[in-house]
Amino acid sequence: MIPFNKPCSIGTEEEAIRQAINQSKLSGNGPFGEKCSNWLEDRLDTEKAILTPSCTAALEMTALLAEIGESDEVIMPSYTFVSTANAFALRGASIRFVDISPETMNINAEQIAKAVTSRTKAIVVVHYAGVSCDMERIMEIAQEHHLWVIEDAAQSLMSNYKGRPLGTIGHMGTFSFHETKNYTCGEGGALLVNDSSLIERAEILQEKGTDRSQFLKGMVDKYTWRDLGSSYLLSELNAAYLSVQLDHADDINEQRLRIWSRYQQGLQQLFDDGHLEGPQIPDDCQHNAHMFYVKAKNSEERSMLAAHLKEQGVMAVPHYVPLHSSHAGKRFGTFVGEDRWTTAESEKLLRMPLYYGLTEKDVDHGIKAVHAYFQK
Ligand SMILES: *Cc1c(COP(=O)(O)O)cnc(C)c1O
Repeated sequence: MIPFNKPCSIGTEEEAIRQAINQSKLSGNGPFGEKCSNWLEDRLDTEKAILTPSCTAALEMTALLAEIGESDEVIMPSYTFVSTANAFALRGASIRFVDISPETMNINAEQIAKAVTSRTKAIVVVHYAGVSCDMERIMEIAQEHHLWVIEDAAQSLMSNYKGRPLGTIGHMGTFSFHETKNYTCGEGGALLVNDSSLIERAEILQEKGTDRSQFLKGMVDKYTWRDLGSSYLLSELNAAYLSVQLDHADDINEQRLRIWSRYQQGLQQLFDDGHLEGPQIPDDCQHNAHMFYVKAKNSEERSMLAAHLKEQGVMAVPHYVPLHSSHAGKRFGTFVGEDRWTTAESEKLLRMPLYYGLTEKDVDHGIKAVHAYFQK
């Protein structure tokens, strides 16, 4: 059976973890953590990258930093992971779900503009499959209404929009290093603080609301409780694993892109014949091959195709159930405008296996299995 995902491993992570053990510093923001933060700051050209235990935790930090409260509204797509919404629902905000564009499955900028009210405080965008949202238009809407823009870039490390790295365009951006993502350490994440006025508070928040990071830099002579906070640090053991992945980021990216293109070429005939729809990458987006998906005609055909692939030893899987249709989604949010695409498109989408180490032979087997379904 070809699994849908295998956590990425380069082979030298064990050595790095052993080194972390020997350096006698296992808690957060040690040498390996610093190496990863520096890598993110240099490579993405942003001032501050903070490693967190998950993207979920980084999103919670953004809600605290934006001072989201009970009277606020936050606009986001319904087609996303629960953490995007939870972070803001936890602060008591009302979630305003808006529709996506079918070409990219990303939030539709014009629907955002229509959903803004006097209570709107933030826009949270999700770059689905590592393909950028229409950031130019979104930043323009945000500027006009003085809104925070938070990029849930969980899937998007190494992707660009008009040459700019995803996660660095909004006021804040978040990454995930969960085992299902391109670069991993099991569980992990990062917060990019692109607005320098937020950096000091972000450091305090990460350290349980204390100024411990200033104390460690010798800027204050004892550390005290300064603000709200929690424990938002990534252990050195995880950072050690992650540092190896970041060192090999280009290899990993190139291999994933090769696999992605092989699927694209192998399935092109089925797209041309109208049996399936393939992913579309807008001209101004450079993606990171986080995901290769196809869209069947409807939910029934998707189930039959997935069942056929499973019989052929290929694990292809659907993705998000729109949040506005869930129990909690109804409690904490509302869909604003028409659900023209979110539900319908989510029911058609099927993700093919894609991971570092997936062989060409296995990719070709997957492609052949999809063709076989349509020849039946
Ligand atoms: C994976 C993912 C998350 C959650 O990441 P964790 O690191 O598991 O917390 C959040 N948002 C999106 C869009 C994701 O794909």
